[in-house]
Amino acid sequence: MHIVFAASECVPFAKTGGLADVVGALPPHLVKLGHEVTVYLPLYARVRPHIKGEWKYAARSITIPFTYYNRFVGVVDGGKRDGVQYYFVDCPELFDRQELYGIRGGDYPDNAERFGLFCRAVLEATKLLGVPQVFHVHDWQTALIPIYLRTVYAADPMLNHAGVVLTIHNAGYQGKFPPSTTEQLLFPWDLFTLDKVEQFNDFNFLKGGLVYSDVLTTVSRKYAEEIQTAEFGERLDSVLRGRAADLRGILNGVDYAQWDPATDGNLAAHYTPENLAGKQECRADLLHAFGLEKVAASTPVIGIVSRFATQKGFDLVEQIAAKLSDRDVAVVALGSGEPVYEKFFRDWAFWNKGNVAAQIRYDDALAHKIEAGADMFLMPSKYEPCGLNQIYSLKYGTVPVVRATGGLDDTIEEWNAEQGTGTGFKFYGYEAADLLAAIDRALDAFQNKKAWKRLMRNGMARNYSWEQPAREYAAVYEEVARRRVS
Ligand code: ADP
Repeated sequence: MHIVFAASECVPFAKTGGLADVVGALPPHLVKLGHEVTVYLPLYARVRPHIKGEWKYAARSITIPFTYYNRFVGVVDGGKRDGVQYYFVDCPELFDRQELYGIRGGDYPDNAERFGLFCRAVLEATKLLGVPQVFHVHDWQTALIPIYLRTVYAADPMLNHAGVVLTIHNAGYQGKFPPSTTEQLLFPWDLFTLDKVEQFNDFNFLKGGLVYSDVLTTVSRKYAEEIQTAEFGERLDSVLRGRAADLRGILNGVDYAQWDPATDGNLAAHYTPENLAGKQECRADLLHAFGLEKVAASTPVIGIVSRFATQKGFDLVEQIAAKLSDRDVAVVALGSGEPVYEKFFRDWAFWNKGNVAAQIRYDDALAHKIEAGADMFLMPSKYEPCGLNQIYSLKYGTVPVVRATGGLDDTIEEWNAEQGTGTGFKFYGYEAADLLAAIDRALDAFQNKKAWKRLMRNGMARNYSWEQPAREYAAVYEEVARRRVS
């Protein structure tokens, strides 16, 4: 079967979060299952260095109409990698920019036009380069594809048999724009109603995608349930409840070619479940990288790698910071994002030199060092659709302390000292006291070296590779294709 992925991020070309990891890893696994996969991505400034040699245009000029003008888009052939065909949508005036979605503190003001153009360009490009049986689109940035397909393009004989699967990687980001977007993107005004794209007087890209896609998926079973409730649904819960029969939870896999302490090129030493000795060296290397060389060997190190967004629960960490600093524990944090959290981590480190250290930036190599060198990994998320870092942590024998939400709840099992089962520590209420209690349970368990090794090895034995989720996605595509034909 031919599947076209349309996405705003894809490893290794452009990444701001877990979406890029999924779009990078799933297609090659689908190819291994015998499918043909094409990935379309905007040609951002940061994609340019990945295109080697002279650019080869698969399509030179596709006309994308707007209200009073046209834009002309090229499609650059990115060639095949691991059997997957990549195409980059070239529109320099919209995509040749420093960032993907906006510069510090705000979105680009023309994001509706940018991703509206991208979606339409993908549909037009497939008519020249190959219409798939199924489009697999991701989050709000590509949610216009199903909307275009079932409205403006509904009568197109080349496109009208194609099915659409939309994956929600994070319902918190919806692409909300003013009502005039309807006209700007040349949609008929009867689309702007509550049962279609209108949501609290916004043109809501994600909502339209939820209405018009054949099947919806999200990235864990728990999150698929959660988003149907008012607490997690980000005001789309009633739409999602209405589509419950077509909503599936498929847990993300992780790429163990990149994330395995036995082979990870970013580490000072390698280690395996059978021989954990190298982890001590990784710990020393990590403490050195954060200027915490004086931390005692008996002191557990808690690692944090994250976008600093409200979603990630760092307001809870802020509430327990003083108490945590009184305990025998060191903290290393890597992240960037909302200024309040950047300031919190900077201040926390400033007042606790020698025990707490933070680096405010994006640094992939350092993220690997933290996964390997820390003893525990903290993810107190308010909500977490899937979460990748806790899965990496399991593989690296770094024990996750997590809030039991979304993928965190699906992947982490509470440690049971009596039975020697479980992989981490979980708390349920979104309360500082509950977080502190979970950390205290972890600090307690750390005192028993033999039990702690068992706990580490339980996690290291878990397998979250892409084989299983790729099969689940393939089954969804088959189902959608069947429905479209019949
Ligand atoms: P989200 O997609 O919500 O950001 P995930 O846990 O699904 O959360 O994915 C986050 C990914 O981004 C992981 O691969 C993580 O290592 C990486 N990451 C996040 N922040 C940083 C950072 N500051 N430096 C390096 N990697 C980071």
